[in-house]
Amino acid sequence: MTRSFADRHIGPDRDELRQMLDVVGVASLDDLAAAALPAGIVDGGVLSALPGAVGEHEALAELAVFAASNTVATSMIGLGYYDTLTPPVLVRNLLENPAWYTAYTPYQPEISQGRLEALLNFQTMVSDLTGMEVANASMLDEATAAAEAMTLLRRANRSVAARLLVDVDVFPQTKTVLATRAEPLGIELVEADLAAGGLPEGEFFGVLLQAPGASGRIVDWAPVIEAAHERGALVAVGADLLAATLITPPGEQGADACFGTTQRFGVPMGFGGPHAGYLSVRSQHARQLPGRLVGVSVDADGAPAYRLALQTREQHIRREKATSNICTAQVLLAIVAAMYACYHGADGLRAIARRVHGHAVTLAAGLGGAAVHDRFFDTVLVRVPGGAEAVVGKAKSRGINLRLVDADHVAVACDEATTDAHIAAVLESFGTSSVVEPDAGVPVPIETRSSDFLTHPAFHRYHTETAMLRYLRELSDKDIALDRSMIPLGSCTMKLNSTAEMEPITWPGFARLHPYAPVEDAPGLLRLIDDLQNWLAEITGYDSVSLQPNAGSQGEYAGLLAIRRYHLDRGDVHRDTCLIPSSAHGTNAASAAMAGLRVEVVKCRANGDVDLDDLRAKIADHADRLACIMITYPSTHGVFEQEVAELCALVHDAGGQVYVDGANLNALVGLARPGRFGGDVSHLNLHKTFCIPHGGGGPGVGPVAVRAHLAKYLPGDPLEPGSHAVSAARYGSASILPITWAYIRMMGAEGLRRATLTAIASANYVARRLDEYFPVLYTGEHGMVAHECILDLREITKRSGVTVDDVAKRLADYGFHAPTMSFPVAGTLMVEPTESENLAELDEFVAAMIGIRREIDQVADGVWPVGDNPLRGAPHTAAGLVGEWDHPYSREIAVYPRGLSHSRVKVWPPVRRIDGAFGDRNLVCTCPPLEAYAD
Ligand SMILES: *Cc1c(COP(=O)(O)O)cnc(C)c1O
Repeated sequence: MTRSFADRHIGPDRDELRQMLDVVGVASLDDLAAAALPAGIVDGGVLSALPGAVGEHEALAELAVFAASNTVATSMIGLGYYDTLTPPVLVRNLLENPAWYTAYTPYQPEISQGRLEALLNFQTMVSDLTGMEVANASMLDEATAAAEAMTLLRRANRSVAARLLVDVDVFPQTKTVLATRAEPLGIELVEADLAAGGLPEGEFFGVLLQAPGASGRIVDWAPVIEAAHERGALVAVGADLLAATLITPPGEQGADACFGTTQRFGVPMGFGGPHAGYLSVRSQHARQLPGRLVGVSVDADGAPAYRLALQTREQHIRREKATSNICTAQVLLAIVAAMYACYHGADGLRAIARRVHGHAVTLAAGLGGAAVHDRFFDTVLVRVPGGAEAVVGKAKSRGINLRLVDADHVAVACDEATTDAHIAAVLESFGTSSVVEPDAGVPVPIETRSSDFLTHPAFHRYHTETAMLRYLRELSDKDIALDRSMIPLGSCTMKLNSTAEMEPITWPGFARLHPYAPVEDAPGLLRLIDDLQNWLAEITGYDSVSLQPNAGSQGEYAGLLAIRRYHLDRGDVHRDTCLIPSSAHGTNAASAAMAGLRVEVVKCRANGDVDLDDLRAKIADHADRLACIMITYPSTHGVFEQEVAELCALVHDAGGQVYVDGANLNALVGLARPGRFGGDVSHLNLHKTFCIPHGGGGPGVGPVAVRAHLAKYLPGDPLEPGSHAVSAARYGSASILPITWAYIRMMGAEGLRRATLTAIASANYVARRLDEYFPVLYTGEHGMVAHECILDLREITKRSGVTVDDVAKRLADYGFHAPTMSFPVAGTLMVEPTESENLAELDEFVAAMIGIRREIDQVADGVWPVGDNPLRGAPHTAAGLVGEWDHPYSREIAVYPRGLSHSRVKVWPPVRRIDGAFGDRNLVCTCPPLEAYAD
């Protein structure tokens, strides 16, 4: 039998599926579809525009043609994107290693210590290099980090006018994204050349600077920062981390926050991404940091242990009052950057920086007096009156891309990959072939940094390849990723990320393109992007798709902005209210607030469905203020609501738009299309439904798809001011789009439909098997769930004292990652098995859950006390087995709950249960000095 890619991607084979369907009580996948989905939304001629499926090697061959048609020029464009030499040990053992890239966001810290330690290294690296006290665990890119810095300064400085001063030399793409973000929030941006003189008149809550600037110039910002503080403004600086190894970091110049990218620390440019942005602040602003913050706490034995601090799942608690909508960030790339710093250490980074600067100095010297600035790090702005275009053309013919600034200026950016030969070729392009002695020009020495950085042992211990190899292995061995067991996280769709899908992302033809390279350099990528936009439009039933948003949250934001601008353009200026059901994901409300919309909550009925009576009442209440409703389909309660078409019609009749959150599209692909059953706009999560791995908490891609009337409001080119771009790069995280392209290409329409139905079958199988042990909270027609199910533990907790936490931690002793905890309903677990798990693995999980239920019964029956039983004691470590054992259950039950002879490979959690509250009271968010461990 020849197996297709779909047969490899989908876990259960025909026999297994038959057994599962027997348990569910349907005869076939088609019967399952008929039973689970409302007839009204099922869409007959679906996906006819997709090409037929091909095998792995054919898909790779097609991708190789795309990659080969791109031109990998020497990139000297700069503007925040630089070529970098990724150490091969990091490529193979981190970037291309499923133990790292298939992990989930570290919400279960006891089985995530490896990536949490790596992220703490990232935070330490950023705060050290920028001279700040606290950094978060990555942002989506530099421009969005700048926008988050803007809103952070605003939150910290509410008393003055809503005006932000932006220096002219801030990166142009950053200015565009700032403008997009500022407008709906009522923030006014004022641009000025702050290096030239004092601050302009007027009140400002903040000032935004860049170091070095877009022109390459290095300015001593200390006097400007001081002047800003005197005027009551706070200051954020976009800082280049490599330059910061040599020049005085903004923190030492008095800045309140720093933002930027860590791309040049070993992360390929990727035609725009993904890479990790950063945001660092003084400690008094730590609680204002958006996104995730890793901190240090202690476990049940008092040993130090890492976990996410403060704002864990912040949006779910604070919703529209959340500091931002960031959920998925850029964990995998943040870890690459951190490991790059660990591998090079402070002296290695300084050496790289000096080499880069040296090339820039040689270039400036060779150009005599043509360099505009005398203090620069890597970028030389060159004056060539009337000749800029010709110079750029000559360099292009030598295989080098320079930046055309205007008719009279060219900018040349050096990086880690720059060689003497490149500099010589650039000089030839300027018509200057004789390299003048370095002191012929007048570059001024720039090394003003005297403070130490990266002094922690993490940045000293791993400078040899052997040491780094083992460090990476040691860390990943502490974590549970998809390479060990299923990860049944509801709403997150942890499915197979196949090797064939992953291989192309590091190919130079995709990885080494600058996002602002001339379009003629990227025909292969543009063709791939075009295919993907068309395929996703076909799959969702919408008319236009933008791949720009770097996560689901950003897609939500872009989609809501489109709705807002649509209403404004039609003169409906009062339509500012966004209805959101109480069950919604927290990012929905946070995105609405960012888009300048007021959030109104619509109730759910006892059966979990949106309460249409309450919806009618809310529509009547808000009448001509109604902008839109934001629903998730199938709902976050894991059911296909029957009345979705009616719901959409109610909102449309009242003049509102319908946003369908597409995070649950894994239950719809090939069956129904949100663009056809009532949606005007949706975002998708390519890192859920379409196989981009979660990377331990990112990267993600959150395309936004719209019907034709909203197409002109999709985000535009970030280099075009006023284009409403939401990310720094036109196509966002372009270099990981081949993953989704390959998935769709290899599955074909039939494979995709089978995957969807198998995911629904698996969820219903698990629901039926577990219902008598843990009641399934919500079901739809015929007692069916969609692609996930919520297990209700609240009664069990009431009777036994055993909590969802206890069950989640105990699953680690059984070798499993916990399901989603207490979302969307507190006191429950949400299970999403996906189509990729075979019956044996589903049964292992079911057996673990049944075993746990029996343990709970023993607690309820008083066999074990509530305060001391295998659940409350979970997870159990190897170290906990030695020495005294004074628990009322055996060591064997503790660590081999299914018996020693059970064949599953034992997972050993490295720490015991972590005390989150202690960590929040004693906030430590950088690598603690070694003496901290002494007491
Ligand atoms: C995951 C998810 C989001 C947010 O997506 P990110 O990519 O993490 O920003 C939004 N809504 C729902 C229902 C989700 O499950």
